[in-house]
Amino acid sequence: MSFSAQILCWFDKNKRSLPWRNDKDPYQIWLSEIILQQTKVIQGLPYYNKFIHAFPTIKHLANASEDEVLKLWQGLGYYSRARNLHYTAKEIVKKYNSVFPKDYKTILKLKGIGPYTAAAITSFAYNLPYAVVDGNVIRLLSRYFGVQTSFDSSKGKKEFQLLAEELLIKEKAGKNNQAIMEFGALQCVPKSPNCSICPLQNECFAFNNNLVFQLPKRAKKLKIKKRFFDFLIITQNDKLFIQKRKKGIWKGLYQFPLIEHEEVKSERIIKTSDTWRNMFEGATTTITKISPQIKHQLTHQTIYARFWHIDANILLPKNTDCIRKEELIQYPIPKLLEKYLKNIGII
Ligand code: SF4
Repeated sequence: MSFSAQILCWFDKNKRSLPWRNDKDPYQIWLSEIILQQTKVIQGLPYYNKFIHAFPTIKHLANASEDEVLKLWQGLGYYSRARNLHYTAKEIVKKYNSVFPKDYKTILKLKGIGPYTAAAITSFAYNLPYAVVDGNVIRLLSRYFGVQTSFDSSKGKKEFQLLAEELLIKEKAGKNNQAIMEFGALQCVPKSPNCSICPLQNECFAFNNNLVFQLPKRAKKLKIKKRFFDFLIITQNDKLFIQKRKKGIWKGLYQFPLIEHEEVKSERIIKTSDTWRNMFEGATTTITKISPQIKHQLTHQTIYARFWHIDANILLPKNTDCIRKEELIQYPIPKLLEKYLKNIGII
């Protein structure tokens, strides 16, 4: 049996029952693919269900506010993907009369949709012959065929794409793509693939050459940036000050006024910073608590955060909202804040 035939056979026996596989609705497929770019199915499924419940069609998603979309996305990370999802839903409603386009090139032009997602939508929904290449597919192809080119180099990207295209059984493109992705996600997993029960074991290059844990190869080392955040939780007559972030990874989310540094700073330096001075000049302030430093790991960044609890009598700063504590739960906030506020019982 060929590689693809074996994968299809395995898929028939092992595939998971997932809601977006029930019918071939491109909206559901698109939504699931964007969510699953951040996370595994087990963590992504509750988000998918929440989104479909709140926005059963593209029109519902387009009509939502950005705050509503980000609130449902809260905790998934990569918030630009949620903002692009929302933007593209509005574009499809306006430009394509709420009907998801069918053509690969048209889909590829939509904001937030790259070659992988366009191939997934067109093949799963319309059975068009576009091969998907995601992390699961790369790992399986690299190990099985012994591809040693780094997958994150331009040469490697082309090589994996061409190989996936060669292997695609065109008349079964949708099923073939789902099968290879599922095999990578469930059987040929990164850390502990159970090769002893794998139907591909006999022909698998990595297994037969003891290279399972060396493949696939990555060229670039992940650079992790360190950031130091001091959040100011300012309470005034039982109300809190929050600000909407205008840029960066948390653009569109709400947070407490923030003082950021590239290295850890003493409390004295924080209190003499321009942000602190502008915020509290002439006001009476009482610092009731400063949290210990909390480490928050993101893919490309490590954030070290402290939370300052301050009672103060100040004028409302620019670009700031003053809200009741119990209203905070309605606002989309970063997971770091959510975790901290849950721990201290504010939300
Ligand atoms: S034998 Fe192991 S490494 Fe090879 S395809 Fe199967 S699970 Fe992956």
